[in-house]
Amino acid sequence: MNDLTPLRTTGARPLGCQDAPVIEARQDRGQHAVFCGLTGIIWLHRKIQDAFFLVIGSRTCAHLIQSAAGVMIFAEPRFATAIIEERDLAGLADAHDEIDRVVGELLARRPDIKLLFLVGSCPSEVIKLDLGRAAQRLDRKVGSGVRVLNYSGSGIETTFTQGEDAALAALVPALPAEAADAAPSLMIVGALADVVEDQLIRLFGAMGVGPVKVLPPRRSTALPAVGPGTRYILAQPFLSETARTLEARGATRIAAPFPLGVEGTTGWLKAAADAFGVQAQLFDAVTEAPRARAAMAVARHKPALAGKNVMFFPDSQLEIPLARFLANELAMRIEEVATPYLHRAHLAADLALLPPNTDLSEGPDVDRQLDRCRAARPDLVVCGLGLANPLEAEGITTKWSIELVFSPIHGYEQAGDLAELFARPFERRGRIADIRPAARGGA
Ligand code: SF4
Repeated sequence: MNDLTPLRTTGARPLGCQDAPVIEARQDRGQHAVFCGLTGIIWLHRKIQDAFFLVIGSRTCAHLIQSAAGVMIFAEPRFATAIIEERDLAGLADAHDEIDRVVGELLARRPDIKLLFLVGSCPSEVIKLDLGRAAQRLDRKVGSGVRVLNYSGSGIETTFTQGEDAALAALVPALPAEAADAAPSLMIVGALADVVEDQLIRLFGAMGVGPVKVLPPRRSTALPAVGPGTRYILAQPFLSETARTLEARGATRIAAPFPLGVEGTTGWLKAAADAFGVQAQLFDAVTEAPRARAAMAVARHKPALAGKNVMFFPDSQLEIPLARFLANELAMRIEEVATPYLHRAHLAADLALLPPNTDLSEGPDVDRQLDRCRAARPDLVVCGLGLANPLEAEGITTKWSIELVFSPIHGYEQAGDLAELFARPFERRGRIADIRPAARGGA
């Protein structure tokens, strides 16, 4: 027996994995296997249409966001990198002057910008700068309806999806205070594709739940008010700091599974509906048709996936709700679910719905997880881009987890597409297998 042997509880355990131990948990978590928090700019700049993200970073940071967001090449982009080269402490004052100059020029050229994020990164010359103070100084200086905020997307401090958490947490102190006599309101927290957001808001509207606000909003000029009357529900599982800052402003979290798949979406909507006193009959009447449509769309992919086993490497923090969806709605077997961070409170409902004795790991050592993967040879591995190619070369079918963050996957109408995202790698591998013998035969 070696130290990789999964720890399992020996006594009886309630259904699900709410209290399950993790196989492996480290302090230096996952950085070597995932993208940094700058990646969040790619979807956030599309979501908040009058925001601009100015990365204070190195040429590496500039390459990362430009290549990841290459689709912006024909448009006036809403992100850029101010490159800070190596300099000594005496040069830091110049760096601040340079940031002020770049921001001044940017705002003069782009009057459409109403919210400017100064985004920190991890090169040592950037770490030496106090970007929080720079943002406060610029916020006072630029005035005229432009907010300047700061957060860090540094690879040292943030993983792939934590960039969104850091950006939204920076936004929360700027939200207006709700009026003391305001009616209870629902706030959906987490960036969703506009089409998905509209669908969910329509369902709440049909149940009489509202007013419904969203964070982040599509325009920074429409920041949602927050206060003790605000009940918020997370749409993404990677928003722990945002949740903490909302609670500091008096908002209360509605505990729910995440709205992925039929089960997750129904549980998510139901939790909010219950918080607003919606009758079960009305809830069923509103959700019955989309729920049936979603179940049919998911079922179409079940023959391709049922019985296959899947292993998740840590990347997006969506791993646990996705594993729950694959196990419960597509009858896949879960080999191991690894996540960069395991927030047991926010994930409690999803953990409770996982099959009992599912192996969980939090920020595992990538080499040791690779050893477990090679020993188990799962039918499908969900992982970051860096691991996908080597595993494919070893004959293991993979799914890029980043695709699950960029695709609209939440809610009923997207449940079939979500299932298809997992079925597609098998079709691809099947096509490759068909081509290879034909190619050999023809040679
Ligand atoms: Fe690389 Fe750090 Fe820049 Fe991210 S923030 S691109 S990890 S240098």
